[in-house]
Amino acid sequence: MVRVSWESGVVVKTESSKLILDPINHIGSADCAFISHAHRDHTGAFIDTKKTKYSTKETIALFEAITEKKVKNAVSCAYGKPLKLHQSELKIINSGHVFGSGSLLLNEKGVTFFYTGDFNFTDTLTQKAITPQECDIMVVETTYGRPNFLFPPREEVYDSIVDWAAKTIMDGDLPCILAYPVGKAQELTKLFNLYTSIPVVTHPSITKTNSTVNAFGGDLTYYDLSREGEELIRSKSCVCLFPTSYHPGTLKMVYRYARVAIVTGWALSFGRRSADDAFVLSSHADYDQLMGFVKACKPKKVFTIHGYAEDFANKLKRKGIEAEPL
Ligand SMILES: [Zn+2]
Repeated sequence: MVRVSWESGVVVKTESSKLILDPINHIGSADCAFISHAHRDHTGAFIDTKKTKYSTKETIALFEAITEKKVKNAVSCAYGKPLKLHQSELKIINSGHVFGSGSLLLNEKGVTFFYTGDFNFTDTLTQKAITPQECDIMVVETTYGRPNFLFPPREEVYDSIVDWAAKTIMDGDLPCILAYPVGKAQELTKLFNLYTSIPVVTHPSITKTNSTVNAFGGDLTYYDLSREGEELIRSKSCVCLFPTSYHPGTLKMVYRYARVAIVTGWALSFGRRSADDAFVLSSHADYDQLMGFVKACKPKKVFTIHGYAEDFANKLKRKGIEAEPL
């Protein structure tokens, strides 16, 4: 028996245990927690000092680097290695979303439960796509769960970003890109490293995440804004990565020649907002990928969370798959 409910995170109750997945703030009455990846809206459980937290070693390292806090009572997990929790067997697999991100498989008495967490069903320059897992009960994230969310081919977007940066430099301006420090920033760093000779200058928050990835054997080349990056910015012969929390107007006050682009899947809906340009590049699955992924997992029951959970559950039902938003 596996029961699924919502209590500021996904609660999975089996006969032997109660586990909470990606709680927003605290573990509550659950015995322990699973943290799927290092984006801030998923890491609330790390602040609990007493209860056990399961996560990948990469996610724990990213969280500690970002917050400069030590996580206590965490079980540092490796992809694919089974773990025992009372009568359940747990396994974390790569979810393809960001560095260290994981999906959780739980099996108890022959029933398989699968929690995707945030995931990507396509290869990127830095992550391998998630692999479908056959399961009985599935909790799937549906951030882009409407049919209008269809992302362009990744290689085309990569080309457009590189062309945009090169043209901006040729025009005598400074290309600045707003991107999430965990995930997109590594993908963009790798893009410019692989296909151009344009140096990548990183805001300190991105320097932290890039250096954590390199500490695990990554090969990202970048220059911190507050150190060697300063000279590169003066020469206007580099591309700068800033977190999405920066407002383009603020950046332009500091760097008069900045041309600012935002890189996110949401550009499909919201366009460039206050930036000069926007590129549709996401670390999530788009609608077709979500549908293809769920079908490949052959679940008997699906719970949808995040984004367009109700819309996507309705689409699944129309295709004969039992589904409801959580
Ligand atoms: Zn995420």
